[in-house]
Amino acid sequence: MRYDNPMGDELSPAQLTELESDLHDLKTSLEDLLIATETGAKPVSLRENTGRLSRMDEMHNQSILLANRNVTRNRLKQVIAAIERIKQDDFGFCTNCDGVICLNRLKAYPEANLCLDCQSEHEKTDDT
Ligand SMILES: [Zn+2]
Repeated sequence: MRYDNPMGDELSPAQLTELESDLHDLKTSLEDLLIATETGAKPVSLRENTGRLSRMDEMHNQSILLANRNVTRNRLKQVIAAIERIKQDDFGFCTNCDGVICLNRLKAYPEANLCLDCQSEHEKTDDT
């Protein structure tokens, strides 16, 4: 049986369904993570002052936590955007070059919106 895909590596409906459920799971766990870290993200000064050093430690830990929360929030945004792309039948294609994003990559990062080539280009220019 042949699907209507000259490239031969477009997603089958079953693969698409599986990735969509992966995306929904990912969305839920990212949202849970944001809720779980919410208390730690409150300003340190509002909490009980337990001494200068530990307060500095706490602020340092908090800056890591806030950075992690930003990463989580950005990933959540990408996950939501990917779910939207599924709805619009646009999922699995690179938003930069329109190429097919390979299944292995989508398995690892279902929210990926760039193919491997464009992603490595992107990272190269980001690295300056
Ligand atoms: Zn691309």
